[in-house]
Amino acid sequence: MAEVLVYVDHVDGAVRKPTLELLTLARRIGEPVAVALGAGAENTAAALAEHGAVKVLTADAPEFAEYLVVPKVDALQAAYDAVSPAAVLVPSSAEGKEIAARLAVRIGSGIITDAVDLEAGDEGPVATQSAFAASFTTKSRVSKGTPVITVKPNSAAVEAAPAAGAVEALSVTFSALATGTKVTSRTPRESTGRPELTEAAIVVSGGRGVNGAENFGIIEALADSLGAAVGASRAAVDAGWYPHSNQVGQTGKSVSPQLYIANGISGAIQHRAGMQTSKTIVAVNKDAEAPIFDLVDYGVVGDLFQVVPQLTEEVNAR
Ligand code: FAD
Repeated sequence: MAEVLVYVDHVDGAVRKPTLELLTLARRIGEPVAVALGAGAENTAAALAEHGAVKVLTADAPEFAEYLVVPKVDALQAAYDAVSPAAVLVPSSAEGKEIAARLAVRIGSGIITDAVDLEAGDEGPVATQSAFAASFTTKSRVSKGTPVITVKPNSAAVEAAPAAGAVEALSVTFSALATGTKVTSRTPRESTGRPELTEAAIVVSGGRGVNGAENFGIIEALADSLGAAVGASRAAVDAGWYPHSNQVGQTGKSVSPQLYIANGISGAIQHRAGMQTSKTIVAVNKDAEAPIFDLVDYGVVGDLFQVVPQLTEEVNAR
């Protein structure tokens, strides 16, 4: 069976969920061979093997932490040269997309970004993408070279599928460009204790209807009752009520959770662009004619200041 390279996103050896989702998709098209780089890379092996990696190629060097993405591209290319895979899958983070694009250029392949599904096809893997503010889905395949495909978080279920997961050291020779851009400092964002917006299974968002930064507390309380991330519309962000890092939409982040709850958000096309692929959509809006109700699975016509606290109370009581 053909091997499929999976680029591993991990923090000090703890594998992030989008990588485990990639392993589910990789198994549809071949045997996953994982590539884990940087500090703690070897510690990823157990989790990767549990989810179907037949082999885990690891490399650690100061270059991965001290410079931007090029050393990682060098390593992924070394893995590509060693394995000659049928496809290369990379999580669709900002860094993942840069690594994938640089690799595709180097190996002369076509690239598909932000896939939301992947299946085997007669002429190679077929990726599903969501286009035009999620009004359409398209299916495409790479027609030149080895497909390089980035996949959005929450595109597949994480499935246990125990495999060998044999760890092998990857030998990497860094290119002249590898040390071109040095990282001078890193400032970790203050943790809210909530899941990362783009990876969360549930997102609770607030819009202009929340009517002030001080009222976002009720959105956060509902999010915390559900173990959810907090999102915001651009109107709420532009008003300074919530950070831009939480904005959902065309000029914010794209999310695809199991459940998206929009509170006081009208459903403008630019907001929909970032959340329309959510599996179940719920909206609370006092205007029964609000466009958001055209795309919801469940809608509550009502004042969010009454509905949201009741919902939080109900969830907390269970
Ligand atoms: P509004 O459209 O003002 O809607 C507020 C809603 O709250 C209304 O439907 C109202 O009925 C309801 N409401 C009010 N009070 C209550 C209450 N007490 N209880 C219940 N409901 C209540 N927008 C984004 O969100 N993300 C983007 O990334 C984005 N990118 C953009 C990019 C471009 C180039 C442009 C031009 C626009 C972009 N926008 C984006 C802006 C977008 O067009 C809308 O202006 C924005 O989404 C509106 O935000 P909103 O729904 O919170 O506000």
